[in-house]
Amino acid sequence: MSQEEKRTEIGEIGEFGLIDRIAESFKTVNTSTLIGIGDDAAVIDAGEHVKLVSTDMLVEGVHFDLSYMPLEHLGYKAVAVNVSDIAAMNGIPKQITIGLGLSNRFSVEAVESFYRGVKFACEDYAVDLIGGDTTSSPRGLIVSVTVIGEAAKEKVTYRKNAEVNDIICVTGDFGGALMGLQVLEREKEVFKVNPDMQPDISEYEYLVKRQLKPAARMDVIYELADAGVIPTSMIDVSDGLASELFHIAKQSDVGITIYEDKLPFDELTYRTAVEFNLDPVTCALNGGEDYELLFTISQSDFDKIKNLPDVTTIGFVDKKESGHKLITKTGKTVPLTAQGWKHF
Ligand code: ADP
Ligand code: MG
Repeated sequence: MSQEEKRTEIGEIGEFGLIDRIAESFKTVNTSTLIGIGDDAAVIDAGEHVKLVSTDMLVEGVHFDLSYMPLEHLGYKAVAVNVSDIAAMNGIPKQITIGLGLSNRFSVEAVESFYRGVKFACEDYAVDLIGGDTTSSPRGLIVSVTVIGEAAKEKVTYRKNAEVNDIICVTGDFGGALMGLQVLEREKEVFKVNPDMQPDISEYEYLVKRQLKPAARMDVIYELADAGVIPTSMIDVSDGLASELFHIAKQSDVGITIYEDKLPFDELTYRTAVEFNLDPVTCALNGGEDYELLFTISQSDFDKIKNLPDVTTIGFVDKKESGHKLITKTGKTVPLTAQGWKHF
């Protein structure tokens, strides 16, 4: 079959397979490009420091539904999810640019609402909006944010440097954003059937907030710096904890073992998963959009992090041959599977 006739569906190789294919055909030519495609952010030599650059796009109907996502929250989230990628490199965010694709459904006031959220996030993370691009879109809203950050050269953390016997740590808790989405989707269905019903989501406030207004864990980045700890590897959890564990394992060429009874659970997340007939552990491992940090540290650094209130150790880095394992509460060893968020 000739090259023109061949057609591979993106779903066949998946998002990561597609990125690998793009990366394979590009070699970097500038010595200042220290790291290109493959980590949470690119790393560019800038003298004593490095510059970190990352882009994340949010598409209406894929990443958000404006029937329950206020535009102000969307603006905040679009910035926070980008800042999260700079945090994952152990860097400090400095500037952002924003590209907007807008259909004629959006008014000036709507755009201003979006930018109010952007401004809140810029204040929270001390970043400057320095530019962007505005264009029309045939349908819906597309938001693409690029963030630029900085780090001292020796402090940058990659996905690739986890070592056997390192301790695996996470911040916060998992599955909350997914459960928030479930709650919002359920209320939307109720509203469709009976528009007079006012949704009551007050009891799920934490979950809804996790979905609509996630926070990048810059607080933990500063805590680690104060504690004098440079993780051996780090990634932010956008697609699901298991999927991110796989990225660390693949790029570091190691195996991983995590313990079910060590996974940090928020009680409301757990209860809501049960209410929705979902397995809470599966939700924690595969729910997306928590924007927590997953990192590994040398055993010698354990004492420095053990008292950090929002950091939990969940397992250890193993030899590659040992594979990816979950030790269940009953002590059974089962293979860890990564479902991740599938866009294709
Ligand atoms: P994250 O989940 O941390 O945002 P992604 O999985 O989106 O990371 O991306 C992984 C890597 O692939 C990053 O280095 C990113 O810059 C790169 N990448 C993603 N999409 C493309 C693309 N269309 N072209 C070039 N590089 C890409
Ligand atoms: Mg990331």
